Amino acid sequence: MSAPPFSRSTRRVRAFAPDPDAPGRACDNPDCDLAGDYRAPKSRDNLREYYWFCLEHVRAYNARWDYYKGMSPGEIESNLRSDTGWQRPTWPLGRNGSIGEALEAELAAFAGLGRARAKPEPERTPSEIREALAILGLEWPTSREAARNRYKELAKRHHPDANGGDKGAEERLKTINIAYAALRSHLASMQAEASA
Ligand SMILES: [Zn+2]
Repeated sequence: MSAPPFSRSTRRVRAFAPDPDAPGRACDNPDCDLAGDYRAPKSRDNLREYYWFCLEHVRAYNARWDYYKGMSPGEIESNLRSDTGWQRPTWPLGRNGSIGEALEAELAAFAGLGRARAKPEPERTPSEIREALAILGLEWPTSREAARNRYKELAKRHHPDANGGDKGAEERLKTINIAYAALRSHLASMQAEASA
């Protein structure tokens, strides 16, 4: 059930090396013209079917893997596509448009892709809370109040009671709780440092 995506493959593909079996089409993020050289399984229940993304988008997708846990392939698909039809925000939770841009800037910088849309970062995102920010759909810098407001909104939306006791919602809420706890303690220690 929790087997890694490539465990049954006859040939292991090194993480983040372009896949020799890539179909030679563009990244499955329609906003993106780069080659889709990196595969990502469509869901836990469907490890044999793949999306094909560029490096930055496969990394963004993989970062959300836990968030997708318990979602059906259809739910993941509609999450990816969101109500804005794959316009920004591309990734779930990015209702305010922050997540797509923030993640892309991070990932483009990481991949050394000095592309025009990778805006200079005004303040470097602390690496230890990068994933928490991505899960909560927040952009750095953020405040304790903004984090709390976003948390409340997500906790309400993903609460099992609001989702007919759905197991997937329970898992998503867990992920959200962990992300918020990490972010909150980071912000608290920053504030303590500043006033010391
Ligand atoms: Zn892409």
